Amino acid sequence: MVEIVFLGTGGGRFNLVKQIRRTGGFRLNGSLSIHVDPGPGALFGCQMFGQDAEKTDVIVVTHNHIDHMNDVNLLIEAMADGWRVKKRGLLVASSSVIEGDEKGDRGVSRFHLERLEKFMMAKPGDRLELEREGRKADFVATKAKHDDESDFGFVISMDGCKVGYTSDTEYFEGLGRQYAGCDVLVANCLKPKEDGIPGHLSSAATVKLASEAKPGLLVLTHLGMSMLKAGPEKEAEAIGKKSGVKTVAARDGMRIDAEKFNISFA
Ligand SMILES: [Zn+2]
Ligand SMILES: [Zn+2]
Repeated sequence: MVEIVFLGTGGGRFNLVKQIRRTGGFRLNGSLSIHVDPGPGALFGCQMFGQDAEKTDVIVVTHNHIDHMNDVNLLIEAMADGWRVKKRGLLVASSSVIEGDEKGDRGVSRFHLERLEKFMMAKPGDRLELEREGRKADFVATKAKHDDESDFGFVISMDGCKVGYTSDTEYFEGLGRQYAGCDVLVANCLKPKEDGIPGHLSSAATVKLASEAKPGLLVLTHLGMSMLKAGPEKEAEAIGKKSGVKTVAARDGMRIDAEKFNISFA
């Protein structure tokens, strides 16, 4: 069984600074424990919502924006169990996080890279095998269109479940096809209605994504202030009606069983 736990569901500058919705990313718990996009409050979110950060196997950081990578060094610190003992854990990240963006800023420090068992730079189209102590997941990086050009989404197959994540992206031809066959698709839907903004999805764009991808369940996260004002549950319902895909809006602390789609709260 794979369970998805949302530590933070906020998107945009206002949530980042005011923490109306938190920004710690989400975790996939199955054979491997995978932390995705550890933004500000990721470590705190783990404690708050019953997740053991020290038992993380893999950290995935899709791009070098502060709402996605702020706590990566902190999480490596937890995962690697201090700096004296042997290297521990995997990191999968964009080139902007590992090598630096066009300005030379990098999300992860050299010190922390050295604490890892292994780090892997992913770009769209790459297929990686994630493995720790015989426990495995298959990782395929998908294309995203965002202002960090090395940004990627993914499809992770683990324990017979397929979970997709768009990361931050705008709609483009073929976006949805990349997630065909997913049980659950997590979409970063920043804006409501047709409120388009370059580099991000609105509800209208998410309808197109859902209609192409046809996942078993679509989950909206990375919700911006205008989305929160419009009502994410209402937007999810409208997206569901238009696309024919069962759609829910994530909340901080929400847990979703990726097989039966049962929802509970941590
Ligand atoms: Zn971004
Ligand atoms: Zn973002």
